[in-house]
Amino acid sequence: MKIGIVGCAGRMGRMLMEAVLAAEGCALAGGTERPGSDAVGRDAGELLGRGDLDALIGDDPRRLFETSDAVIDFTAPAATVLHAALAAETGRVLVVGTTGLSKDAEAHLQAAADRTPVVYAPNFSVGITLLMALTERAAAILGDDYDIEIVEMHHRHKVDAPSGTALGLGRAAAKGRAVALDGVWCKSRDGHTGARPRGEIGFATLRGGDVVGDHTVMFAAEGERVELTHKASSRAVFAKGAVRAALWAHGKPPGLYTMRDVLGL
Ligand code: NAD
Repeated sequence: MKIGIVGCAGRMGRMLMEAVLAAEGCALAGGTERPGSDAVGRDAGELLGRGDLDALIGDDPRRLFETSDAVIDFTAPAATVLHAALAAETGRVLVVGTTGLSKDAEAHLQAAADRTPVVYAPNFSVGITLLMALTERAAAILGDDYDIEIVEMHHRHKVDAPSGTALGLGRAAAKGRAVALDGVWCKSRDGHTGARPRGEIGFATLRGGDVVGDHTVMFAAEGERVELTHKASSRAVFAKGAVRAALWAHGKPPGLYTMRDVLGL
């Protein structure tokens, strides 16, 4: 299976190329970068310090879609919208890890998913996907006597907050309680906030250093507290999960899938 990586010179882009090269039955179709990027025109192998791999980095995503069976996108929201349109036109599998997508950008992904398989997850690690399922179940069992707070920490370069994963965990908790997250969330607190409303799902964001991604979901009641925690120590887990998602989606009917579908959770 030929897999192309858009945004291949990014932190995740490089990891994704390594993951494709390491995966059985996969070949690297090539990559793209923003027009004007230093990486354009170079061989992907050169970028990875591996010598020539015969996989060119271009700035024309249409060409990459046409020569790939699946394309993996961990870029930025505006680029992801463009890539979703190309996936729909070419019928290629699209795996999206970009976070911070607006409702409008997500609607573009849904439109592409009407025509081709799209896997979209705020976090492609197997551990976090399991944490999502556990969070939904715990929220359903514990009920709203237990206040839910979600705390996350990421490296200093991260540009969106709360993290897409934290919001995904919030959605899982809200689903467990059969409510909509945007009706009950509190994404940050400052100043005189008043007492905590019952049923609220709160978020707290920490940023610093090189933290790959820590998430804790707390269920705090009078007399006890349950905490579910996941800590990622290498970005390689996201890349490995995304390649697994691309292999799983190949040959599936059009649709918008999540990592929980990929793992059968
Ligand atoms: P990064 O800034 O290092 O990489 C993004 C790359 O995309 C850059 O190289 C940039 O030049 C490139 N790019 C931007 N616009 C482009 C375009 N139009 N065409 C081609 N390339 C383009 O960022 P990163 O740390 O690699 O993260 C990228 C995204 O992935 C972020 O949204 C991040 O939150 C998300 N992420 C998701 C997961 C997950 O499991 N879902 C895990 C880690 C990071």
